[in-house]
Amino acid sequence: MKYPSLVSDVLNSNELFDVLAWASARINLLGEHIDYNHGFVLPASIQFKTISGIKFNNKNEFRFSSDHHPIVSIEQIQKQSGDKAWVNYLLGVMDKFSQHGIAIPFFDCTILSNIPIGAGLSSSAALSCSFALALQNFLGLNFSLEELAKIAQWSEHEYAGVKCGLMDQTASLRGKASHVLVMDCLSNEVEYVPIQFLKEKLVLLDSGVKHMLDNSAYNKRRQSCEEGLSIIKSQFTNVHSFREVSLEMIQVIQNEEIKRRCQYVIQEIERTQLAVSVIKSKNIKALGSLMNATHHGLSKLYEVSCKEIDFIVEELQKSSSVLGARMMGAGFGGCVLALVNTSEFDRILPNLVENYNKTFAINLKHYEVTIDDASGCILQPIV
Ligand code: ADP
Ligand code: MG
Repeated sequence: MKYPSLVSDVLNSNELFDVLAWASARINLLGEHIDYNHGFVLPASIQFKTISGIKFNNKNEFRFSSDHHPIVSIEQIQKQSGDKAWVNYLLGVMDKFSQHGIAIPFFDCTILSNIPIGAGLSSSAALSCSFALALQNFLGLNFSLEELAKIAQWSEHEYAGVKCGLMDQTASLRGKASHVLVMDCLSNEVEYVPIQFLKEKLVLLDSGVKHMLDNSAYNKRRQSCEEGLSIIKSQFTNVHSFREVSLEMIQVIQNEEIKRRCQYVIQEIERTQLAVSVIKSKNIKALGSLMNATHHGLSKLYEVSCKEIDFIVEELQKSSSVLGARMMGAGFGGCVLALVNTSEFDRILPNLVENYNKTFAINLKHYEVTIDDASGCILQPIV
């Protein structure tokens, strides 16, 4: 079996673990802020991974370390704060396993990752998902990947305080090479749709900014949508979710801000469904146009973009070598996802990097995306 490069590095380093598991970063082609609004999302797992390595210890404490943080020792499963807060993503998973009546012996856990953190690529889901997969193999359990995704989501809700949908965890654990997941966020069912690029490629441009340091804006958008939907439901009794809501129906909402949020959601759900059909018919150009329209909605209606991200998207959209570009992730920074013509894009990139640097004094990083198998696990020792 061919392992992801980071996993091969760990195996070659001769560091011994009882269990090693990994999960992926993800992109989302379309359907931003739609998972918790019960539409459809189009994520895919990519080449960046987080690995969780677990081995028994006889120290009477759980010890966690990460390549980004010093070691944290924990005697009891309870929420942490300050420098130790990152282990909450893992403690939530342990708590959930304990709630199933599973006894967890003390262990050392090492986290390694090549996912850019806080860039909208879902390093948080890859962290909790890789750990959930490692822990289940360590303990000899057999939850399905779907169940593990839900456990990781619960951990992010209850221990990290982010009321995320299930998209990130699903892609992080269940994605497949060269496939987009079409996830129905009402039933959580997943369809795998092959996606092929011939002359095009997907590129992530990392703005290097993250304006919201807490999750208040994310949770506020979520609350506005819930409020909007409940107003619509009170007037239209056949409406159960945003899927049944039309643009005419949102006129019953008085608050203009809530109305704009709902307008974005309705239009994005429609775009996502269109995107599935254009991917199936291999109309990559049309997919690019839908990405551009999504960015417009995110920036002007849902208002989760920022000046740096808008700058990158606008510069990209000026070029004929770019089929589509949009902000990706929760917003207020992070990455732009661009669908570009492979041969021409490399010519425009240096100019974009220079202009971005001149305007914001930030070094614009970029990553070419490979859609890759999401997760895996190895029980050691391997002989
Ligand atoms: P994103 O998921 O888009 O990367 P989030 O803000 O949701 O951004 O998650 C980032 C948080 O997840 C970090 O602040 C940290 O607490 C945790 N995290 C992610 N990856 C790691 C890692 N490799 N080591 C330690 N903590 C991590
Ligand atoms: Mg996250």
